[in-house]
Amino acid sequence: MTAKGRVFANPTWKVASPVVSVLIPFLRDDPSTLLTLLNEEAGAVDGSVEVVVLDDGTRDPELTKRLTAVIKGMTLPARLITLPRNEGRSIGRNRLATAARGGSLLFLDSDMRPDYRRFLRDWADLVAREDPPVAFGGISLLQAPVEPRFAVHRAMATKSECVPYTVRARQPEKYVYTSNLLVRRDVFAAEAFDPGFTGWGWEDVEWAMRVSQRFRVLHVDNPATHMGLDTVSDLAGKYEQSAPNFARVVDRHPAIVSTYPSYRAARLLKRLPAWDAAAPAAAGGRDRGIADRDAGLFAAPVPGGPLCRGDRVTPEPYSADPGLGAKLRRRYARLVHRRPARLNLDRPTVSFTFDDAPASAASAAAILERHQARGTYYLCAGLFDETGHMGRYINAAEAADLAARGHEIGCHSFGHVDAHRTDGEALLDDSGRNVAALTALGGSARHFAFPYGEVSPAAKARLADRYGSLRGVHAGLVREGSDLNQLPAVGIEGDDGEAVARHWIDRAVETGAWLILFTHDVSDKPSPWGCTPEALDRLAAHARDAGCDLKTVGQVLDR
Ligand SMILES: [Zn+2]
Repeated sequence: MTAKGRVFANPTWKVASPVVSVLIPFLRDDPSTLLTLLNEEAGAVDGSVEVVVLDDGTRDPELTKRLTAVIKGMTLPARLITLPRNEGRSIGRNRLATAARGGSLLFLDSDMRPDYRRFLRDWADLVAREDPPVAFGGISLLQAPVEPRFAVHRAMATKSECVPYTVRARQPEKYVYTSNLLVRRDVFAAEAFDPGFTGWGWEDVEWAMRVSQRFRVLHVDNPATHMGLDTVSDLAGKYEQSAPNFARVVDRHPAIVSTYPSYRAARLLKRLPAWDAAAPAAAGGRDRGIADRDAGLFAAPVPGGPLCRGDRVTPEPYSADPGLGAKLRRRYARLVHRRPARLNLDRPTVSFTFDDAPASAASAAAILERHQARGTYYLCAGLFDETGHMGRYINAAEAADLAARGHEIGCHSFGHVDAHRTDGEALLDDSGRNVAALTALGGSARHFAFPYGEVSPAAKARLADRYGSLRGVHAGLVREGSDLNQLPAVGIEGDDGEAVARHWIDRAVETGAWLILFTHDVSDKPSPWGCTPEALDRLAAHARDAGCDLKTVGQVLDR
């Protein structure tokens, strides 16, 4: 359980009867500057605001001494609680609330800096005027460092957190961050932070899920700058640590997470940057991109179904891990081991690709040929002639025939192993076998598609040397500079597959980009991962009519 903390209060603490309590938790950080800034407003708030600072287990006697001196000299009533060991942000916030005396609690992170000199007074005025259940003041980057190494975090924060209050107010429950958040005491008593969360991440999301269902969330323009930008590797480390917390969110709110997947996923994913201009959010639930294993990043908090392993096991139906944690993982993978594309397209270009591939997809080759086009088949030699959920897979003779007709034979993995769940040596081994088998049939085996769309930075790094490109399944267009190690692709699959693909063809035409389409079986009664021959034919015709080049992946990249 929780240990007793050491408490220090300054002289003005005892005589104050504050309305607002500013609660500042920190770990391995020095909140002195923030305290000094807040104290400059002491005269303006006239005893109505107090400050409670919680050292959540930094265990630095020098820092404690320094802070004690700062607090002792403050005019604002202030109190320092020093914990002997880290208890996590949820317990820390609950402790702060217990130590506070005001009717409203202002949670303020130690790396925040008020943007205006009326910061405390505006909060105190708001409480006096409206006494809102929950109010968020906003986050900015006004005073934050501009060094390039923080560019990723800056981009993330700009997109997801630093939103003007007029915009926040339109979707009040969407923007609740505990870094500058006012919570009325009775609201906090009704919905405290879940002490099951330890370490960094997700506890505020979980809290906001509960609170926004019961109370009004007000948005005001009283921002503070988030000074603590992280480098990419620091961010990665934090996300890695946060996986168990994420699992807890899913565990506690399965209904919320599953009932509103796109809304919630979008909200959670807003904490990571979107790198593709054509953001996958446009494709709704179709974001089945990439992932990482190597640094143990995002160690799958949401278990997926059993995935095929070994050499001659037929894969489960197409199923990237749909969990939000996996989505974050795939998004993170897009940031690393990038290899920028040099395309030199003559005109908008569309590639038709087939994964696995079921024998019915081989018969679709004739459709493409009628449009003077060829397809790219990402094959698993380990599946030749096996039978799976989408029927029989292509065999060696059919693959050789496709290659002879000018279609491209690319690589999936030999045994359809999931690159995210296969360790490095085994992955290279598997890939080597597939390349050997497919080149023996006359295929180029130059380009690769990740089975299940599951990617990891480790897999990207390993496979990048072996292949000319690596393709995922996150929707998007390929442009100059897009990542060859994680090419986006749009699925022609499911009931709306043709409509979605047509929409993306039009986007490629508008922007002169390259669109890679993928499907699996091509039959009159396709599986949920395939399409009909007619749909394929109409899409090829549409792309031609719209002025697109129809090329294989190799024809685009290997010229
Ligand atoms: Zn596959």
